[in-house]
Amino acid sequence: MIRKVAFLSMHTSPLDRPGVGDAGGMNVYVDELAASLARRGIEVTVFTRRTDPSRAAVMGTPAGYEVVHVEAGPMVPLPIPRLGDWVGEFARQVTESVLSPGSGGRETDILHSHYWLSGWTGLSVKQATGLPLANSFHTLGRVKDATRRPGQPSEPLSRIAAEREVIARSDCVIASTEYEALELIEQYGADPSRVCVNPPGIDLDLFGPGDRRKARRRLGLDDAPTVLFVGRIQALKGLDVAVAAFGLLSERLPDARMMVVGGPSGPSGVEEELEIRQLAARLGLDGKLIWCGVQRHQRLPTYYQSADVLIVPSRSESFGLVAAEAQGVGLPVVAANVGGLRYVVEDGVSGFLVDGWEPPDYAKALLRVLDGSAYRDELIRGSLSAGRRFGWETATDRLLELYMGIADGTH
Ligand code: UDP
Repeated sequence: MIRKVAFLSMHTSPLDRPGVGDAGGMNVYVDELAASLARRGIEVTVFTRRTDPSRAAVMGTPAGYEVVHVEAGPMVPLPIPRLGDWVGEFARQVTESVLSPGSGGRETDILHSHYWLSGWTGLSVKQATGLPLANSFHTLGRVKDATRRPGQPSEPLSRIAAEREVIARSDCVIASTEYEALELIEQYGADPSRVCVNPPGIDLDLFGPGDRRKARRRLGLDDAPTVLFVGRIQALKGLDVAVAAFGLLSERLPDARMMVVGGPSGPSGVEEELEIRQLAARLGLDGKLIWCGVQRHQRLPTYYQSADVLIVPSRSESFGLVAAEAQGVGLPVVAANVGGLRYVVEDGVSGFLVDGWEPPDYAKALLRVLDGSAYRDELIRGSLSAGRRFGWETATDRLLELYMGIADGTH
């Protein structure tokens, strides 16, 4: 029986605000999974690096899990490549904490690390404690490299080497879809018997259908056709493609508008946003493109409910939580035909999958959703039923089975 789990999330905390910097789907996933396990009476501790001196060393959360801020390196956010220097110290402190559960504390049953950096840390903690280790990568360096935009730097070799090591030495690698499982096997030589698939959930109570007119009123929007983009602004997310596609769409639908929710992320995020703003100005989209900035996660349902279509032209995506959340509210999705988006979006049923990153192809797909025919209602129904697949209860049941198999060696 699993009673206590240690999550390792070295580079970003579930308490950080998603949608900007390094905080995104992984933070939402760690927070909601920890909360879901806590609801089942399982003690969850999330170990993350301390980057903010105003946060206490140990914090409880309203969701019922605990966050431990480990002092490893300067107490400021650091770029990921610099965090390698602090992996040893982070692992040492996690090991100490895991081995001394405190008076009346339960013994940890399993380590679950998130992202390659924490997987690397997890290997040291596993070695020192003898505890089993499961790792979720969330993104893979080689997969990102395969579809990166021309001119973008490739992933550092140290990342690829660390990923290989984590794949070879952890007890189980948890992929979010069958597609990611195949990538692990084909591109990293993972042993198929140690790869398992468990798609993430979304909060279906939060991301449910709502009244579009009310949602629009709340955002001060009129009845014009509305395209929505939600995500961290960096080349990987393809906002450049979305804006160029919207430019073409607005030649056909002059009153259409597009909302962009999210903020700059990664070393060139600010530059990326600036270039896209310049592109929008060149395309004459000023006034049609609404930059909404980062929004609290709890506010996102209002954005999904007020839109007519979500566009997700990511160059790589291991799952694509925004597409799942949009479908939770019944919003059709136009997405790139890559990675986990191929699993989340049901092509022709809940939206459309588009091959490649050519703006006219996305514009055509957007127009198909927005053309006002009866097909649109079908897409809305299809989106709603596709979204219902992603409840946390199913994801947690399956994960607990996996944990038990890993802990007793039968996996
Ligand atoms: N998000 C948010 N506020 C924002 C932008 C994004 O809460 O302003 C959340 C969004 O709801 C989703 C997550 O950030 O849960 C992004 O996850 P996704 O898997 O789409 O992308 P990732 O960031 O993991 O690459």
